[in-house]
Amino acid sequence: MWFEKNTKKKMQVKCQWGCPFYMYASNVKRFGPDNMVVKTLNPQHICSPIVTSHFLTYRRVAKEVKERLLVDEDWWSRKGIHKHIKDTYNMDVPMQTITRGKRAAMKMIEGPYIEQYNKLAAYRKELLRSNPRSTVEIMTEMDGLVRRFKMMYIFFQACKEGWMKGCRPLIGLDGCHIKAHHPGQLLTAIGVDANNGIFPIAYAMVERESEETWTWFLEYLQQDVKIERDSSYVFMTDKQKGLDNALKGYYFVLKIFV
Ligand SMILES: [Zn+2]
Repeated sequence: MWFEKNTKKKMQVKCQWGCPFYMYASNVKRFGPDNMVVKTLNPQHICSPIVTSHFLTYRRVAKEVKERLLVDEDWWSRKGIHKHIKDTYNMDVPMQTITRGKRAAMKMIEGPYIEQYNKLAAYRKELLRSNPRSTVEIMTEMDGLVRRFKMMYIFFQACKEGWMKGCRPLIGLDGCHIKAHHPGQLLTAIGVDANNGIFPIAYAMVERESEETWTWFLEYLQQDVKIERDSSYVFMTDKQKGLDNALKGYYFVLKIFV
């Protein structure tokens, strides 16, 4: 449908050529300046139910898809968004509007994410206040004039105590993907408690799993669990993505069985 007339006082709506749908509405003084009254209406359509709509703006598309894109930006392709709008609203929106809408939605999401990175230092402070004697380390590097996030390592005091007092001398190391707007990887160290249950030790958020990031992780971990000479720990790993090389430094000193 389209507006043949669209002013504050009058509104005339028509459908595709050949379709008898017609609506005329105008302002009636006694209902106030913001109200319109439909004077003529022929609601019968004989046109195809799906028509290209230019009324759904890219901003509306952005609003519609923002929440889902927040979970996973790859989750929705442009084609998928197009189909969703067609199924939900019976509107065939031009692909250009979808493209602009998706881009606008990504921008809306990007803002809050960057702000969250800026709050990391405050987050660390709060973690240390509420969990005294924990280890929370943030690594950043300068990229020109911008400080870039590299890694965040967290080992809660409660986990330290629990691990030292009640766990077997076994450390499982593995990494997994973080699927979000700013993807990264999660490095984890887990132990096994006296009931053979999995016990969380430490974890870190990094850009990607590599020898460099595993080396940092192990350095922090070593300080935290006070791995010393002559102590015997078993490390369980998949020996992937640099983890085997990062661990090599510990073989001889610690009599680690791999
Ligand atoms: Zn029609």
